Amino acid sequence: MIPGLATPPQRSAAESAESASGQGAAAIGESLLHRIVETATDAIVVIGDDQRVVLFNAAAEAMFGRSRQSALGALITEFVPQRFRAAHVGHVRQFGENPQQPRMMSPERLIVGLRSNGEEFPVEASISASEEDGRKFHTAILRDVTERERTRAALVQSNMDLQQFAFAASHDMRSPLRSISGFLRLLETRHIAALEPAATELINRCVAAVNQLDRLTEDLLCFARIDAASDAATDVDCNTALADSLHLLAHSVTQAHAQIHVGILPVVSANRLHLVRLFQNLLDNGIKYCKDRRPEIRIEAARRDDGWVFSLADNGIGIDKRYHQQIFETFKRLHTQQEYPGTGIGLAVCRRIVERLGGAIWVDSDPGQGSTFHFTVPDRPAR
Ligand code: ADP
Repeated sequence: MIPGLATPPQRSAAESAESASGQGAAAIGESLLHRIVETATDAIVVIGDDQRVVLFNAAAEAMFGRSRQSALGALITEFVPQRFRAAHVGHVRQFGENPQQPRMMSPERLIVGLRSNGEEFPVEASISASEEDGRKFHTAILRDVTERERTRAALVQSNMDLQQFAFAASHDMRSPLRSISGFLRLLETRHIAALEPAATELINRCVAAVNQLDRLTEDLLCFARIDAASDAATDVDCNTALADSLHLLAHSVTQAHAQIHVGILPVVSANRLHLVRLFQNLLDNGIKYCKDRRPEIRIEAARRDDGWVFSLADNGIGIDKRYHQQIFETFKRLHTQQEYPGTGIGLAVCRRIVERLGGAIWVDSDPGQGSTFHFTVPDRPAR
């Protein structure tokens, strides 16, 4: 039997034979092992077949607020809140019946521990099975992650607050913006006769600025909406998602006489609206950043081991390598409004969408050589 570290573990026959062979390595190894277990910062708890504790190191004493003396021989369920006990016994039994590699104890990797004072705390645990002298043991290595979880929860909350703020700010800003634009137009139409050309010019500039602010708030709203959307994914046929994007861009495609070549695209698991937006933003840029050329865009997808790689290649102005990363940041633009209008949010939205799918997005490009945007959509594990 493995004692609760009160004495060093007994040696197996093979170990004794090795020790007797004169090397003494097993004996040294054992006492060292003993110290390692005892000084480990993670709690180490070993239970036998009967689910009773046979080893309880110093870190376990500190974590559960229980002395080794009282813990040894106790049922493991005593260290778990009442409501999880039945499930816990089942998990351990199931693990014992299917000897496997050491593994984390739950898919989310966290279980709930119970201290002797009744306090519950989150634990990251890994469990492994072993056998000695015909007896089975389970070893759990446990880490109290209270602080980490507290920080994570605070971060999630602050992200949600920020999202909510961005959502409200951009949503609520649009209606006064529209009023300003409307009043300026009224001023121009009703008082045109009294206005000097310079005044009309100023009004036009104001309207242009207000419209730009309106586009910005709309794009910010779109950005906030992506984060606020649920991760619920459905099977999306990318051929139809792309067709929807092209439909939304019909005006620009016609105006620019753009040629769009589409390969056969796969079905992927994603949020459909996000995918439409992703194609739309990339296509929109491909059409826009073309200078005097007739835009030509090719969209393809290739299979790889763990998902799909999409590519959108255009024949536009290209992008200097120095900016290949930066263009995916919010508000990063390489041109003035006069050269190419925009808000600098389109690619940041694309990146956010792809990241939420668990993929990556990048560009291959050189000035004057066109650009190819690639993004990946990994397969989702079956639930
Ligand atoms: P916006 O187009 O509104 O400026 P984006 O975030 O979509 O914002 O793009 C950021 C910048 O990346 C653009 O301002 C442009 O300089 C560059 N860019 C994006 N797509 C292309 C493209 N297909 N060809 C050349 N430059 C591009």
